[in-house]
Amino acid sequence: MKRAYNFNAGPAALPLEVLQEAQAELLDFGGTGMSVMELSHRSKEYDAVHEQAEQLLRKLLGIPDDFHVLFVQGGASLQFSMVPLNLLGEGQAANYILTGSWSEKALQEAVKVGETKVGASSKDQQYRYIPAAADLEIGGDEAYVHITSNNTIYGTQWQQFPQTEEVPLIADMSSDILSKPLDVSQFGLIYAGAQKNLGPSGVTVVIIRRDLLSRAKDDLPTMLNYNTHAKARSLYNTPPTFGIYLLGKVLGWVERQGGVAAVARQNELKAKLLYDVIDESGGYYEGHAEPESRSLMNVTFNLASEELEKKFLAEAKEAGFVGLAGHRSIGGCRASIYNAVPVEACQALRDFMIRFKEHN
Ligand SMILES: *Cc1c(COP(=O)(O)O)cnc(C)c1O
Repeated sequence: MKRAYNFNAGPAALPLEVLQEAQAELLDFGGTGMSVMELSHRSKEYDAVHEQAEQLLRKLLGIPDDFHVLFVQGGASLQFSMVPLNLLGEGQAANYILTGSWSEKALQEAVKVGETKVGASSKDQQYRYIPAAADLEIGGDEAYVHITSNNTIYGTQWQQFPQTEEVPLIADMSSDILSKPLDVSQFGLIYAGAQKNLGPSGVTVVIIRRDLLSRAKDDLPTMLNYNTHAKARSLYNTPPTFGIYLLGKVLGWVERQGGVAAVARQNELKAKLLYDVIDESGGYYEGHAEPESRSLMNVTFNLASEELEKKFLAEAKEAGFVGLAGHRSIGGCRASIYNAVPVEACQALRDFMIRFKEHN
């Protein structure tokens, strides 16, 4: 069997070891005589899986005790609604910093719930950069400030998070959670769909500071209220058990790599391989993001013409590279190099890019 060079944006590559472990346990999980998918979510065997995933995430990210860790469904997209439904009360505005399509979508949902404002936007430059700290308009009386930590489509990433003082900072970290060390205490709430850096699709991680739970009104639909999931340890209803099991395995893999700091060093190395080709190509490959805003997770670039990009993508596909087309909204090329993408895949892509340039 030959594993593909998988540069998919999400769902994305999973560590081979994780898949092999899951395969080995698929028919008989821990001597139960059944797959983990067939266990009751109320069984002690599943409970151990659930608890271990939470504890490992707490350990790897250094999540303080005054934060809840929730496993919910509905993807990051449901969080676009749940965040304002739970945290945006009357008489306050939510402040959205727009750095790409996902921030725009988050804002669109908040607009349906309450008052909003835009504290900064880099849309005028096709979202090529992250606004500077000095250019953020934060009043200090907002319900929260919302950012997208990594812009999966445009290939930009916050290098330093804004200081929002008393205003809770909320981050959609779907595409860079666990890719580098993080000070969770800077945030009021972090959310991430699992399918980029944490596991398979179907699970969404929410990390929420305990005191923010009291903002939710009792008349919210039960499943949309963070309190429901916090009180029940994400076992109010049937959770996505297999997804949480795989998430736990991915976390175990990160721990065996040496933890988040070690994974971050790998990520820097991987990104450098590709950005160096772009920078040394004399404009043949044109990076979409401004260099100081570049993402370590999604490397976005263009070639001189759409025709040449088509040829590049076709030949890359033939050479075994998967998922290199840019998002349908902006085109071009994109290599998503999340935690589980091995260094060798990035080296192979670098070599391919150099070869392609020589021949075209
Ligand atoms: C992929 C992605 C989303 C959408 O996630 P779903 O789980 O499909 O809803 C939202 N935000 C960011 C930053 C993403 O990368």
